[in-house]
Parts: sequence; C-alpha cells; structure tokens
Amino acid sequence: MKDAMKLVVVGAGGRMGQALIRIIHATEGATLHAAVVRPGSPLVGKDAGDIAGLGPIGVMVTDDPLAAFLDAHGVIDFTAPQTTTEFAALAAQARIVHVIGTTGCQPEHEAKIEAAARHARIVKSGNMSLGVNLLSVLVQQAARALDAAGWDIEVLEMHHKHKVDAPSGTALLLGEAAAKGRDIDLAGHSVRVRDGHTGPREAGSIGFATLRGGSVIGEHSVILAGEGELVTLSHSAGDRTIFARGAVKAALWAYDQKPGLYSMLDALGLNP
Ligand code: NAP
Repeated sequence: MKDAMKLVVVGAGGRMGQALIRIIHATEGATLHAAVVRPGSPLVGKDAGDIAGLGPIGVMVTDDPLAAFLDAHGVIDFTAPQTTTEFAALAAQARIVHVIGTTGCQPEHEAKIEAAARHARIVKSGNMSLGVNLLSVLVQQAARALDAAGWDIEVLEMHHKHKVDAPSGTALLLGEAAAKGRDIDLAGHSVRVRDGHTGPREAGSIGFATLRGGSVIGEHSVILAGEGELVTLSHSAGDRTIFARGAVKAALWAYDQKPGLYSMLDALGLNP
C-alpha cells in the first residue's frame, strides 16, 4: 500500500489554513507534515492542531518553508499572490505537488506559476469545490446554447467583508466558463464595473457585480437574461470545508501526475 501523502499547509493560521489542517487530519491517505506561517508570526512553535481547534497533534508551526518542504509530498496554499509565487518556486525545486487556491493573481504571478509547473505538479483553481466546478461546466453549456444576440450574461457574487480582491476568483472562473461557451476571450468582453452614465449594455459582453458584507463564505450566480425570461445558475458555499476537501482531493490526485499546470476540472475528471 502507498504511504500517506505528506502535506504542508502554508498560511496555516488563516481561515482556509485552519480548515485544511482539520480536513487533512480527517483524510485517510493524507497526513499533515508541516504547518507554515509568516516569518516571525506569534503562532511559531504552537501545535498546529491547537490553532485549528483539534487539540494537540504533534506538528509544530514553523516559519521556515524550506525545511518544511523537505521530505514533503505536497503543499496546499491559500495565501496571497506574491507569497504563492515564492512557494511555487520552492515546490518546483523540491519537485513536489503544489495546490494553489490563492486568488487575485495577476499576469506576472501567473507567469511565475507556469514556470514553476515545469518541475512541480501544480493544481490551481479560483474555487476548489466540486459544486462550483460542476457549475462552471453547466455555465459553459448554457452560454453555448443561448446565443449572444438574445441572451446577456451577468455574474453576481457576494463574500464576507474581509475579502480583499474583486471580482472573486470564482466569479472570474465562471466568467471564463461563459466566455469559453461563447468562443470569446473574457478579457476583451468583460465589464467589471459600472458607474454613472454607462450607455446601453453592449451585446455579447459579460458583466460582473460584486457585493461584500458580513460573514458570507461565497454566493455566486450566473444570470442569462433573455427577452421575457431569465435563467439563473447558482452556488452557495455554506462552509469553508468544501474548499479544503477539494484541495486535499486535488493534492492526492496530483501525487500520481507528471509535472504541469492543472485545473480542478482535471483533478475532478470534469474536463471533456
Ligand atoms: P486569510 O485568513 O487572510 O489567510 C491567508 C493566510 O496566509 C494568513 O494566515 C496569512 O498570514 C498567510 N500568509 C500571507 N503571507 C504569508 C507568508 N509569506 N508565509 C506564510 N503565510 C503567509 O485568507 P483566507 O480567507 O484563508 O483566503 C486565503 C486565499 O484563499 C485568498 O486569496 C482567498 O480568496 C482564497 N480562497 C480560495 C478558495 C478556493 O477555493 N480557491 C476558497 C477560499 C479562499 P498573516 O495573517 O500573518 O498575514
């Protein structure tokens, strides 16, 4: 039988980091190898299980990623774009799996992640849940079936008040799926903000609307608006563990893959 996959959680003190520690602890075939926090964090030296609400598990929190990646099989990373590119380079050096849930990456970050994927097995997605990935397949089909002349596409999202990037990674993932269904490039057709006298809606564009407040984990709707009818495809995240469970599943899947950059659709077998 294969040994359990030794996983490092980076950003271990964060909302997702804590959920990941709990899910890895509960997943057969995976084991928590190390928990990494920002250099000088007051969490260094504490037991990772304690910070995740599990009670002690014997893995001490560290701020030394290099030592943490040594002998690990994979890293799960829900941190921030710049930090993620640094971890991707380390994962490439160590030739291990890097699951990236971090959102808000800009083209310069994406380029570094692509370069790291020559040696690391990277799975990156703006949303690691099964439901949202299935939704993206449905959105692509709907966008293809309902033509741009008669149907306008709008993506609406709401998240908690602490979220720092907008539109959310998931909203962009759903926008990409709609654009793919229409055989267009999202960057050239998206309307990310509307304010003031905007003029009428441009046919074929894909609009985004962002709401922020309270503790909302993630609400997304893709609205296809036709003459006299609306089709709404939506997903509600009730708990962060859906992302953590997906990320651990992606890590276990990537363990057996060749180096490369994969999506959650690949990991879930949803890619046609
Ligand atoms: P969070 O609570 O702010 O957690 C981020 C963590 O990363 C913090 O603990 C932060 O530490 C840590 N960090 C930053 N730089 C670091 C470094 N150099 N070394 C080690 N740790 C570092 O945020 P969150 O809600 O967990 O979300 C994190 C990211 O995941 C965001 O981009 C979010 O949009 C994304 N996300 C993605 C999905 C998905 O399914 N793809 C789902 C949920 C969230 P400090 O507190 O010390 O700064």
